[in-house]
Amino acid sequence: MALPKKRHSKARGRRRRTHWNLSKINLIPCPQCKELKLSHQVCKVCGFYNGRQVIEIKVKEKKKKKGA
Ligand SMILES: [Zn+2]
Repeated sequence: MALPKKRHSKARGRRRRTHWNLSKINLIPCPQCKELKLSHQVCKVCGFYNGRQVIEIKVKEKKKKKGA
């Protein structure tokens, strides 16, 4: 395993890590329901992609209370 010959300062390591960042996600409005969605991916709200229904969207049902 490679071992470092010289100790790097805290600043050096921190300077290197200034480039560790997350890239912005690309949100675009869905042409079907106008909700913001990830580009090149099926809309999670209406299940449409490329002008047609690709996946079925299940509507959440309210939990029923026991007994009554
Ligand atoms: Zn949609």
